[in-house]
Amino acid sequence: MSKAVASLSALLLCLSITLSPKASTASPQVIVSIKPIHSLVASVMAGIAVPDIMIDGANSPHDFALTPSQANKLSKADLVFWVGPELETSLSKPIKTIGQQARAIELMETKGLLKVDFREDADFDVAAGKATDHDDHKHGQKDDHDDHKHGQKDDHADHKHGQKDDHDDHKHGQKDDHDDHKDDHRAASGHHDHAHHAHGVDPHIWLDPVNAQLLVTRIAAELSRADPANKARYQANAAVTKTGLKQLIGQLKTLMEPISNRRFIAFHDAYYYFEKRFAVTAAGTVTVNPEIMPGPRRIRQIKEKIKAAGVTCIFAEPQFSPRIMKVIAAESEAQTAVLDPLGAGLTAGPGLYAKLLTNMATAMSDCLAK
Ligand SMILES: [Zn+2]
Repeated sequence: MSKAVASLSALLLCLSITLSPKASTASPQVIVSIKPIHSLVASVMAGIAVPDIMIDGANSPHDFALTPSQANKLSKADLVFWVGPELETSLSKPIKTIGQQARAIELMETKGLLKVDFREDADFDVAAGKATDHDDHKHGQKDDHDDHKHGQKDDHADHKHGQKDDHDDHKHGQKDDHDDHKDDHRAASGHHDHAHHAHGVDPHIWLDPVNAQLLVTRIAAELSRADPANKARYQANAAVTKTGLKQLIGQLKTLMEPISNRRFIAFHDAYYYFEKRFAVTAAGTVTVNPEIMPGPRRIRQIKEKIKAAGVTCIFAEPQFSPRIMKVIAAESEAQTAVLDPLGAGLTAGPGLYAKLLTNMATAMSDCLAK
């Protein structure tokens, strides 16, 4: 080790010894549900503390069951940031029962946020799937799950009591988020029924960076409320973060402009916010509910759409089987690429958000410009 490095290490050690006790006692314990939101929170908390993360990206929030250690973290948190029951449905119940000192911030309920409903026009998966795929899905359900959800079968078997009746009541053609909904259905609260359905509000709010600016404002306000001693720092960090987001929006607009007339197919209906902000349009999605793998009929419909709409690109996602996308792309001229709306492949932290959106825009522009 060189002298300079040694003295730097010593300095850092000193700093961490002097700083960490203060940080751990003074700053609130913060836990965030998904990586993109975690990135925004981490950016606002920079220099104060590092927030915890619940869903690291290997899993989809649509298909997420709380592990005991995650439940433990949740129970110790002062502040919990999540999108809302429309996205992390399986968090609804634990969040209702978290400790008294904890405050859960449902970011869907942020003032001024652009919120859109899932698309239901005839070009989209929803309307096409509603009547025709209903029977296919129901009967094909078990096989689909066995094929595609490796390692999750036991989980299903354990929790499935009473599921069938619930499903018949609540599902309009798309199968529901089995894992997410089964407990809530039994609770019969009724208001989570529409999570990631064809209808209802689309919870992928973070994929619009203008929304992200509003989320940053809200996050800073909530942190300041929980930890008034650090308010000035949260506010300053939020201002810097929002300036960064403004620059990002400009860069992405430049990147996306040349491809605005190109049509693509995405794996699930997650990109509406991004599309709206950057003036691109999906021709359709393979599935509205990412828990449901398309049956043969649906695949045929998508293949026809790819031809009819002149789709040049098909986007898979790291959380879900890319094999099905290859099957769909076969026999067409369309290219395939991957979009990662959760930052599964990225290192968590303040820089993740900009990287996630930049990667998404780059993947779209690379694939669609061909
Ligand atoms: Zn989604």
